[in-house]
Amino acid sequence: MKKILVIILVHISISISFSQTPLQRNDFNKLTSYEELISFVEKICGGSQLMSLEYIGQSVEGRKIPAVKISTSKFGVDTSKIKMMIFAQQHGNEQSGKEGALHLLSLFNSSELTSLLENIDLIIVPQVNPDGSEKNQRRNSNDMDLNRNHLILTEPETIALHNLFNENLPHVTLDVHEYFPYSEDWEAFGYLKNFDEQFGLLTNPNVSDKIKEFSNKEFLPFIENHLTEKGYTFHNYLVGGSPNVSRIRHSTVDINDGRQSFGILNSFSFILEGKNGLDRTIENIERRTAAQAEAMIGLLRFVSLNKDKIKRLVNTERERLVKGNVKEKIVVRMEHVRGEKPLSLPLFSKYSKQDTIVTVEEYHPLVEKILKVEKPDGYLIPDDEESTAKVLEVLRKHRIIFYEYEHNPNDRITKYQITEIDSINLEETQLADLKIKEIELNFLQDKKYHYVPISQLYCNTLILALEPQSMLGLIHYESFKDLIRVGEDYPILRLIKKRKN
Ligand SMILES: [Zn+2]
Repeated sequence: MKKILVIILVHISISISFSQTPLQRNDFNKLTSYEELISFVEKICGGSQLMSLEYIGQSVEGRKIPAVKISTSKFGVDTSKIKMMIFAQQHGNEQSGKEGALHLLSLFNSSELTSLLENIDLIIVPQVNPDGSEKNQRRNSNDMDLNRNHLILTEPETIALHNLFNENLPHVTLDVHEYFPYSEDWEAFGYLKNFDEQFGLLTNPNVSDKIKEFSNKEFLPFIENHLTEKGYTFHNYLVGGSPNVSRIRHSTVDINDGRQSFGILNSFSFILEGKNGLDRTIENIERRTAAQAEAMIGLLRFVSLNKDKIKRLVNTERERLVKGNVKEKIVVRMEHVRGEKPLSLPLFSKYSKQDTIVTVEEYHPLVEKILKVEKPDGYLIPDDEESTAKVLEVLRKHRIIFYEYEHNPNDRITKYQITEIDSINLEETQLADLKIKEIELNFLQDKKYHYVPISQLYCNTLILALEPQSMLGLIHYESFKDLIRVGEDYPILRLIKKRKN
């Protein structure tokens, strides 16, 4: 009897110490190091029926990247559940994302959140960028901003994350960050953003309107209410300099970040932005960590409550991508524009030390569609040049389907001739503006082409990446500049199948 009691006591004390995160054990005086993080996830996964640990890849400096799968059975096996993936700390100097994710793991370990697992299978990647975290720097060890790398996937960290996504196809994704309110222009303006948490929704116009509407009308009020009840302040994610120097919009339209690269596949996808400390490390870390964890719990609760609705929505909207309605048009150029009303923005006044409402006239919440292209049935990509071989490499990394092309007389094939390269400013970025002429080809050159059909999950990604006039296309990345030369043909061809009416 005594022996059993001792065993029980030892067991309880082990689970309590397992449940405590390294940050808690360090009394919130020291951030969790990479080594502490690994030993924490290994211990809790080793002692848990619900959690299993996978290493999904290695950072540039060779640090293994852990992912924790949490499920009452085995992730993805029970198809009545909804699948969700949370990933944190792509930016190494946004430490509370990692700490919040570890806190969430400790809550699952101590059974506080187990009821959520009746509806959800969850993957948590607490730290995408371990090298950056150890140096408390934004970028990885190749000096790349990982959250601008989700289209070209040159970095091992983003490749690992996309492999994880493609192998598990979560319906819901959340990318956890921190925003830094203390930039020079805001300091000079005298009013600072003071929200504990901001959630950013999908903004690209090619993402399903139904998903965007559901996020806007149902999720936003829910999460605001959830966080307010828990004592945290909240706002829909705002990006921009201070209102006296620049406009304010709801982040970017680009598909090269975590939120939108999964969102363009019609996932129910978000970015979360906690408030960073002034020192970008430890300041206020206890509250920052708790707020991040609470925001993640809020999304988990919303997803659990709306499981069937979200699953149906995501599955239907993904099916639409796979079926590929060729007559549809895809928006390749877009710009945030003013809405009907200015924004009444609660800000923290440096002078009165209180929250004050500031009216922002240059509030640009809407996305205008500037240029559209018709969806082809597919693209033909030769692999005889370094530039196009690199394009095929990117498609392989995304697990996009393509195969060797065999000519069919019913295929109508066109090429783009580049007549001029001008420049254009869109979304605060100076971009190459290609003037093109589309020419129908009577015969194909005698070389090997790969056929990339549009009717697949990556339909919108493909069109935005490959169309030469797309503001989000590969041609705008340094390593793909060779794809375009004035007076020459763009090497990637468009194919449309002739249809009998
Ligand atoms: Zn960030």
